[in-house]
Amino acid sequence: MTIPKTQKAVVFYKHGGPLEYTDIPVPSPKANEILVNVKFSGVCHSDLHAWKGDWPSKTVLPLVGGHEGAGIVVAKGSNVTNFEIGDYAGIKWLNKSCLCCEFCRKGAEIDCPKAVISGYAQNGTFQQYALADAIQAAPLPKDINLAEVAPILCAGLTVYKALKTAELLSGEWVVISGAGGGLGSMAVQYARAMGLRVLAIDGGEEKGDLVKSLGAEIYIDFTKTEDLVQEVKEATNGGAHGVINVSVSPTAISQSCQYTRNGGKIIFVGLPPDAVCNTSVFDIVCKSLQIKGSSVGNREDTAQAVNFYTRGLVKSPIKVVGLSEIPEIFRLMEEGKILGRYVVDTSC
Ligand code: NAD
Ligand code: ZN
Repeated sequence: MTIPKTQKAVVFYKHGGPLEYTDIPVPSPKANEILVNVKFSGVCHSDLHAWKGDWPSKTVLPLVGGHEGAGIVVAKGSNVTNFEIGDYAGIKWLNKSCLCCEFCRKGAEIDCPKAVISGYAQNGTFQQYALADAIQAAPLPKDINLAEVAPILCAGLTVYKALKTAELLSGEWVVISGAGGGLGSMAVQYARAMGLRVLAIDGGEEKGDLVKSLGAEIYIDFTKTEDLVQEVKEATNGGAHGVINVSVSPTAISQSCQYTRNGGKIIFVGLPPDAVCNTSVFDIVCKSLQIKGSSVGNREDTAQAVNFYTRGLVKSPIKVVGLSEIPEIFRLMEEGKILGRYVVDTSC
């Protein structure tokens, strides 16, 4: 397998600045790394946050974004024993962690103080050849559809872990807020596969059609409803048992705490900049609410999330376009106009 010296990538030099589709050198793997010929990469809203620089911790610059990459191992460092050249591999948000600290030992590797994030602290998957720590890279079955599995590596994994964190029982109502986007369209399906009843919230008729086709029983359009909280309470016969908030709206975050029933579990996943959770402590205490944050998932969560996909329990609602289209994808994402997930083909 010949590895070229240069490759196509989308690079930005300052936050909010031009996203240049250009040629850059192909990196070489260090002893613990694999070099993956990324065939497809999902485009996550976190990539948009990274480019805008709107979160408290900033990215390195210049940066190649992207963290939902699926491709083929083309080179590996001298210490790598768990991948062979030609294997399929996925590159996730968590590129590496120390594996020695308290958090890594407990399987909460994303909380490792030395965690390194793909497409944030090091170049990610909006390029044809990307590096991944071999321990954290996701092994993928050989016959898998690389375009479809790409969004499982962040969107699917994240919502699956969030649903596990909610500890809901089959037959209970879960609200997916932001259901028509990348994470939401996966969350609806994982929730169904886990035996939950889904009430989906997003904006517009097209998103309603999408989430219903994926298994949502009820859809509420937040742009049309006059009293969202009341509507959710009525539709779920007293309030949701749980909420997975993947929306990018501070208002939606606060509302999530209002339409859950007593004992309700509210899991925050979406990360609108500067958002605060405006909830009365009286309600939290007297309704016995549980409010938790959830960030991606660990290696076992990844294997389980991919397994749901390979078993056909979740589908990947994707639209594939060329890598050079990232600026247009970001524009549509900013306007909330993306149905499901965009995946970029790095060959064009
Ligand atoms: P997306 O743009 O594909 O989807 C967001 C959806 O939220 C859109 O469909 C939009 O219409 C909807 N929305 C906007 N306002 C709403 C409102 N008031 N009520 C309901 N829905 C509303 O984005 P995505 O890729 O799915 O990511 C969503 C968020 O999750 C981002 O902030 C991203 O950074 C974050 N994220 C977090 C993790 C994690 O580990 N916690 C992982 C991945 C992404
Ligand atoms: Zn992501």
